[in-house]
Amino acid sequence: MTADEAELLDAVLGHEFPGVLELREQARQVRVSPGCACGCGTLDLHVPDGMPRSSAANPVQVDMGVVDADGDLVATLLLFVHDGWLSSLEVAGWLEDPVALPRVEQLRWDLDLSLPGRPARRGAARPASDDEGAAPPSRPGWDSGGRD
Ligand SMILES: [Zn+2]
Repeated sequence: MTADEAELLDAVLGHEFPGVLELREQARQVRVSPGCACGCGTLDLHVPDGMPRSSAANPVQVDMGVVDADGDLVATLLLFVHDGWLSSLEVAGWLEDPVALPRVEQLRWDLDLSLPGRPARRGAARPASDDEGAAPPSRPGWDSGGRD
């Protein structure tokens, strides 16, 4: 596992959800191999014997969007847990081109991919069309002369 891969997995497992403690243990010993032939960054994960088994849901319930250099969403990152063991880290591209394994900086955690009522953006995500009242409405020019 490369440092980038380890950092990415650490970032995913830095979230709190049922069964994450065991997954963190597994991640210390996990080995990886290419998980897809299409050119995307999907990884297969291999946990050695003797690790604690996790009760985490499959895939883990962490919403992870992947943005490209322009800040456009290009993929969803999914961490699969098979039978209690880390199984694969899948880069599910939204476009035709396969998406490489993202760097941590490319992840967006709170893009409201599935859960309602969560903040729609943080930092420089794509231009949001689904913002609810995040910015005050721009006022017409009556205040441009300063206050008196
Ligand atoms: Zn692929």
